[in-house]
Formats: sequence, structure tokens, C-alpha cells
Amino acid sequence: MDQIVQKMERLRAELRYHNYQYYVLDKPSISDAEYDKLMRELIELEAEYPELITPDSPTQRVGHAPSAKFAAVTHAEPLLSLSNAFSEEEIYAFMERMERHSPEPVVYVCELKIDGLAVSLNYEDGVFVQGATRGDGHQGEDITSNLRTIRSLPLRLNEPVTINVRGEVYINRDDFQRLNAERGAKGEGLFANPRNAAAGSLRQLDPKITAGRPLDIFLYGVGGGVSHAYKTHKEALDYVRDLGLKINPHSRICYGIDEVLAYVEEWSKKRTELPYEIDGIVIKVNDLALQESLGVTSHSPRWAIAYKFPAEQVITRVTDIEVQVGRTGALTPLAHLEPVFVSGSTVSRATLHNEDIVKDRDIRIGDYVVLQKAGDIIPEIVRSLPERRTGDEVPFVMVKECPVCAGEVVRIPGEAVTRCINPHCPAQRLERLIHFASRGAMDIDGLGPAVIGQLVEAGFVDTPADFYALSREDLLSLERFGEKSADNLLSAIEASKERPLSRVIFALGIRLVGAEVARELARHVRTIDRLQSISKEELLEIPAIGDKIAQSVVDFFAQEENTALIWALREAGVNMSEGEQQSDRAVLEGLTFVVTGRLSRFTRDGIEERLRSFGADVTSSVSKKTSYLVAGERGGSKLTRAQELGVPVLSEKDLIRFIESRGASID
Ligand code: NAD
Repeated sequence: MDQIVQKMERLRAELRYHNYQYYVLDKPSISDAEYDKLMRELIELEAEYPELITPDSPTQRVGHAPSAKFAAVTHAEPLLSLSNAFSEEEIYAFMERMERHSPEPVVYVCELKIDGLAVSLNYEDGVFVQGATRGDGHQGEDITSNLRTIRSLPLRLNEPVTINVRGEVYINRDDFQRLNAERGAKGEGLFANPRNAAAGSLRQLDPKITAGRPLDIFLYGVGGGVSHAYKTHKEALDYVRDLGLKINPHSRICYGIDEVLAYVEEWSKKRTELPYEIDGIVIKVNDLALQESLGVTSHSPRWAIAYKFPAEQVITRVTDIEVQVGRTGALTPLAHLEPVFVSGSTVSRATLHNEDIVKDRDIRIGDYVVLQKAGDIIPEIVRSLPERRTGDEVPFVMVKECPVCAGEVVRIPGEAVTRCINPHCPAQRLERLIHFASRGAMDIDGLGPAVIGQLVEAGFVDTPADFYALSREDLLSLERFGEKSADNLLSAIEASKERPLSRVIFALGIRLVGAEVARELARHVRTIDRLQSISKEELLEIPAIGDKIAQSVVDFFAQEENTALIWALREAGVNMSEGEQQSDRAVLEGLTFVVTGRLSRFTRDGIEERLRSFGADVTSSVSKKTSYLVAGERGGSKLTRAQELGVPVLSEKDLIRFIESRGASID
């Protein structure tokens, strides 16, 4: 049982972390499909052990608490999520539940599930007065000024009514690609998909930035406030349209499973013809009285379900398989494809990971293959189509020497990866530089692969320490660099000197040391000097570190060029210890915490002091103003009060992750 509890807690912590990345930062670190899989796992465990459901479980809550960047808005009626169906059987089961509840055959409305950001709009006497994000369903963020910049959102309705309407703000696919192309040219970070672009654009502190983004909106429901005589969801939609608000033209009344499935099938095929992304179909009970009697859970209404599309698959041809060299020397086969449009963008390359995968899936140069985007983002070749072969296809053979430096390559028995073992290989060097500056590492805005390529080409940069010696003149001598972009890059490089030690360790690109392991290492060693001199035995005492990682760390620091790199980074002023940094005080600024119950790693005083050092206010009682309750064992009345008020509750582990997700470390 203990193991089940632990597993559930792990899943919950993981989901909370991803919710934070997705809803607050607009920067998901896993695909939606991967997220949905974790969520499914938790839902299934909770169904099996209902006594272990906790009120703060992500299955019981919506989204994430609003960010402190914006003023909070309390929704008069909660804005809920939707429960999901991933198959026809699940749609059928939903409809059966509805039918059981009603003496009459149930009428449904099928709608497109727009992949954007949920918003709530308040109109008073016909005038738009306030708009908010969904947040945690109870409290959202006040984004009124930003919403005012959306041209299709009327500031005054056709009738002077007081009403709350809900809808989805989205961005058209073409506009998304244009926006990303512009950002890429300026060296700014790219949005992962149109949904993140819409959310990132709308949740700007400066409405001028929002105004420059091509946002649009569809309204799909009324949240209360008007005593008008409509009896069905469809009539409510028509009413909303008559008020002058934009509704999606494709919703349709459906009678029975066949009509519902026909709608689902039709739009599964036609979704790519739409100018915007949809990620599924929403099926809603039409009769509002029946909706009312079915009611809602804390997470979603019982009278609706969202069918999520599986990843879209297309067929294309492999024109070549090239071998690329990664930062650790890993040789990765990369398929070149006849360009094909799939899930919102044109794909012409897909990684094949390693030679075993190419063999298992029997992918040959010249083959027709089935392609999909994993989680709608990463192109993946699912299988080849041997029945379409002509006999001219060429099987893939792994290279016998590095395609870049012609150095020796080896494949260690038991590993799937073949590596170039020349540490001076230029391809590895480039990849290491790219990794160093990347988002999870030193996060240097504007220093992406293209710029780094230019810097290496021009001879300005050889090791990561050289980034810190770049001058304005160096940058201005590069193509496409203006004074503004040069200055921005220099300040981004300067800012990266303050990153916590865990990021620096991760940025070094030690084999097998990912972000998580780097955090563990930083927590234990606290300074880079200590890490450089630590023995393998001592490393093995750290719980998350096994034999292979420990060996890799020791090997890394045994190489003279790596110790030279550390020395040069230190000379450049890069932070090399995990102390309290100047910037730590901004980490939790504006947030109010209450701590309750017994924690395992910290004393109550210790944690409160730590929270204050990050700029948070710590108070002793829970109120509506409390941003988070940190609850240890036996939380008692404060925990109950927080749950009543909808104040988000963090476990000790959640808190550690929360602080780390803000780029700092708690100890
Ligand atoms: P959801 O996206 O599954 O469905 C609910 C939302 O659908 C509503 O809030 C509304 O915004 C939207 N919607 C669009 N068209 C609608 C219509 N016609 N009628 C009603 N609602 C409509 O649920 P969610 O709670 O917003 O988000 C959960 C999903 O978000 C996950 O399943 C996952 O796909 C994604 N997610 C991903 C990550 C990640 O790290 N990748 C993290 C959190 C959430």
C-alpha cells in the first residue's frame, strides 16, 4: 500500500509541476500526450483506491493558481475543465451515463474543441468591464486590458445586458508560424504550439505587446448573470451570437451515438482545413435543465466530455538518412523526408534515435513511411510500408567513422548508441555550446543554434567561457546583428552569471547528468570546488546517483580541459556556489505563504525563514489573500480552511519543485 501511496504522490507532484510550467509559465516541458498519459495513470489509480484521493490531487482541481504577476479575479461561477475521452467506447460510456439520467432520449451539441486559452468575460449593462483567465477555476488573472486589444471582442454588446460569457482565445496557424518566424529571426525563444503562443501573448504585462499579436476569440458558453429565456445550450449560443459575440460556426445538434460519431469522424478528417488548431471535439448535453440536474464535480461538468484526437498520421518518403553528432558524441540517424504537412506544420526531417530503431522498424532509404507527431510536436516515423517497395531501397548502415571529424566511433556493448569518442570533434563542441546556452541550462535569451553557429564560424567562440568575453564589436561584425540585438544579447549573457549552481552543473553537459541530477548534485556539494574533488564513493552516497552517473562525473573532472573551463567560467564571474544569491529575493516576491503540519526536511522556523529569504510574506493564518499553504503531516484546521477557500496546497516536495521551477534552489 505504501508503494501505491508513494506512486500516487509522485504522479501528483509531477502533474503539479507540469501544470505550473503549462498554465503559469506557458512553457510546457512535456507534450500534451505525455501529460495526458500521466494524468490517466493517476485517474486509474484513484479509481482503484478511492480512499487515497486527496482534495488537492490534480484530478480534483482545475489548472493552476493564478500567477502573482496579475491581479486575481474571483469567478462568480467556477470555470471548470472537461473530462476526457480517448476512444469511441469512452464516448459511448459517457452517452450511456447521460441516457440513464434522463427519461427522454438525450439531445447533444457537438462542438470543435479549440486549442487555445480559456477566458471569462464580464459585461455590465452591455459594456465589457472585466476579463480573466481560468486560473484554478475559482480565481483567475485579470487580463482585461489585454483582452480589449482583440478586435473580434466587442467592447459593447447589442443589448445592455449584464452577462458572463466564456470562450477560448486562440491564434490562427499561419499567424502562429509567422510569429515564430519573426521571433526566430530576432533570436527570441519560439512558442511550442499555437496554444502556447496565444497564452503567452495574452498573459503579457504590457497590453501593447498583446495588441501586436494576432489573437482571436470564440465564445462557447454563458456563465450566468442573465435571466433570459433560453432553455438549451444551442439557444444560449445563438443568444450570445445575437449579442454581437463571435461563436464557432461548426457546432451541431446530434441525436444518438451515430450522429455524434459521424461528427467526430468528419472533423477528425477536416481539422487540417481549419485555419486554427483544434485538439478534439466537445460533446455537451443540450438541455440546460438536464445539465443542471447532472451537476458538476470539482474538476468538470458531468454533462460534457472532450474527445481528444489521437496523433494525426500521414504517409511520406524517406529520401536519405544522415548521421548527426550530438554533444556527448552520440551518433543519431536523422531521416530526410519528402516535405509533408502534419498536425499544423510542414515536416521534412525526423530523428530515428539509434541504429536499433532503424533496424526494428525496418526503415530504408527510399521507403514510404507512416509519420506522426508525438504529442502533436515531435515528428516520429512509426513504421515503414514494405508493400510499397520497388527494390531500389537501400538499408541503413551505421557509419564506421565520425561523419564530421572522421574520428573513431564505438558502440559500448549493452548500449543502443554509437559514439564519436574524439572530445575535440567540432560537431560535439557546437552541440555543447548550444546546450550550455539553452533554456533549462544557462537560459541565455537570444543565444540559439543559429547565432552560436555564426559565433563559432567567426572564430569568436570555442568553449562556453568565450561567451562571456564577447564584445559589442564582435557581435556587430556578425550578419543580421544590430545595436539593439547586440546589447540585448550582452545583457542576457551577463544575467546568466547569476544562475544557480544546479543550472551551471547541468549546462556543463556532463554525460548522464540531466537537470534533475544536477539539482541533486548542487544540493549536496554546494560549490563547484567540492564537486571537482569529490570521490566516486562519496557521490554514491547521494540517493539519486548510481554507479554510471558517479563514474561519468568523476571522468568529466579528470579531464584537464574541463577543469580549465571551470576556471575560465569562474574568472568570467559565473556563480559557482549554491548560496543565497542576490536575485533569490525576487523568487517568491508578492506571494503570501502559510505553513502548517510537520515537515520532514525543515523545521517550521527554518522553512519560514527560507521563504522570507526568497521575498515571500509568511503569515500565520489562512485567508483569501494566502497564495499557497505549505502542508506537512497532520495539517489540521489550516488545511481545511485552505481547501474551503480554494487556496492551493503544496507539499514539502511541491514547494521544492515550485522554487526550482523559478530558477532557485531551496537549500
Ligand atoms: P482540456 O484542454 O482537456 O479541456 C478543457 C478546456 O477546453 C476548457 O477549459 C476550454 O478552455 C477548452 N475548450 C475549447 N473548446 C471548447 C468548447 N467548445 N467548449 C468547452 N470548452 C472548450 O482541459 P484543461 O484543463 O484546459 O487542460 C488539460 C489539458 O491541457 C491536458 O489534457 C493536456 O493536454 C494539456 N496540458 C498539458 C500540459 C503539459 O505539460 N504539456 C500541462 C497541463 C495541461
